[in-house]
Amino acid sequence: MLDQSNQRPSGFHTGLYWFTNDLRIEDNRALLQAAEQTQQLLCVYLVDPAWFAPNRYGQKTMGQYRWSFLYASLVDLEKSLNALGQKLLIVFDSPLDGLGALIAQYKVDAIFRSQNAGFYENKHWQLLQQRYQMLHFEEAATHTMFAESSLPFALEDLPGSFSKFRRRVEPLDIDTRLVTAKSLPPPPWGARWPRPNLPPVEVKTSSMFRGGASHAEKHLAQYFGSRLPSSYKEVRNALEGWEYSTKFSPWLADGSISVRQILQALNDYEANVEANDSTYWIYFELLWREYFQWFAHAYGVKLFNKDGAKSQKILTSFYPERFQRWCQGNTPYPLVNACMKQLNATGYMSNRGRQIVASCLVNELSVDWRYGAAYFEQQLVDYDVGSNWGNWQYLAGVGADPRGQRHFDIAKQTAIYDPQNTFINNWGGQAHTGSMDAVDYADWPIDQRRHKD
Ligand code: FAD
Repeated sequence: MLDQSNQRPSGFHTGLYWFTNDLRIEDNRALLQAAEQTQQLLCVYLVDPAWFAPNRYGQKTMGQYRWSFLYASLVDLEKSLNALGQKLLIVFDSPLDGLGALIAQYKVDAIFRSQNAGFYENKHWQLLQQRYQMLHFEEAATHTMFAESSLPFALEDLPGSFSKFRRRVEPLDIDTRLVTAKSLPPPPWGARWPRPNLPPVEVKTSSMFRGGASHAEKHLAQYFGSRLPSSYKEVRNALEGWEYSTKFSPWLADGSISVRQILQALNDYEANVEANDSTYWIYFELLWREYFQWFAHAYGVKLFNKDGAKSQKILTSFYPERFQRWCQGNTPYPLVNACMKQLNATGYMSNRGRQIVASCLVNELSVDWRYGAAYFEQQLVDYDVGSNWGNWQYLAGVGADPRGQRHFDIAKQTAIYDPQNTFINNWGGQAHTGSMDAVDYADWPIDQRRHKD
């Protein structure tokens, strides 16, 4: 572990560290860079009110499960910052207005953040740079295994499929030494940090996932302290249960843990306990995540386009009632219903379930895939822009899959993964009988207009 905290040239008087998808101190290179270059540092997290209002798909960007998890992560981060003599300023405002006010109030001369895969997040960063040209802006890769500069291709030449990507990056060495600031510059003198009135936290996800780096590290230690990694590949496709998969995704999504922390623990397990197909497969799945991070970087706003990153023309439509029934778990497909009810009740769904329900929305229900992606964005506790929209494009056949649209046979999936209907019965997934389209075609021109690209 590198501790470079003693080398602190004070290049900037007042720095602002903008926490985003990196809610940790451990292995946070961007925070370390800020610590090394500033005399005093404002640590800020912006909660954007727009997250809680309906978006163009009629969904919220931030649903209750993720908000509850995120809030716990912020409280945990605040504690860790306090232990280093720092504070966390939580601002309930849009990034441009919120940061603009702080820049003026504290005479900030340098802004630091972690690199982000999100198009809109990057747009805010660019707008800030345009608006405040006299300031120093600096970012570092903390969300990925590789830095962009170490990829063996330019981003615009990102391989068109995961397999090609994997073949190119697998020979690369991954530096799993963790880079952590052991001390931080103090906050500006006399700064007051009243907590704003944030949207209420309505649900507790504590029984499944507890937000925050301290819980992430505990879970990491428990997972690799068990023998579960040795059987991951055999059980990873189950529909329900805590132990069949790693459950790292929510902490990875908000950055309470870094992928390099996971890789380091995985390497230790392989060195000290066992290395087999299953342990390799954990790395393999993390490579999928890596691919979708760079996919989001490479394709920007095209991640959200109906025709996808590859501008592949597809015929799709919007049936409001089918979509509603899919969201509620009230379709003619019991397995899909059970998965959606699980999602609605917990904020989580298995990878197998996600593939099945996404395929159903696109193929059986012929609904525009973006509505499904937006609903997942609202509901998932582990929502991640690259993984969510990238996987949806992949399933809809407009993204990173040379084989085109992926159609899952729901009856076959049920026979393989829920042969006794245990999962379906647990979640009350009984089939909806009757028409899926009580709303007539003639009733939806308004929606049709609203949802054009
Ligand atoms: P594990 O099976 O234990 O996998 C280990 C890690 O590998 C995961 O934590 C994740 O970081 C990564 N991973 C595994 N599968 C994938 C994959 N297909 N794509 C990208 N990374 C993967 N994952 C998210 O983190 N956020 C999302 O918003 C998200 N949306 C999805 C939407 C759809 C339609 C589909 C099909 C998949 C989506 N996934 C998403 C990927 C995957 O379903 C979850 O990462 C996984 O179920 C999380 O549980 P886990 O941590 O136990 O996964």
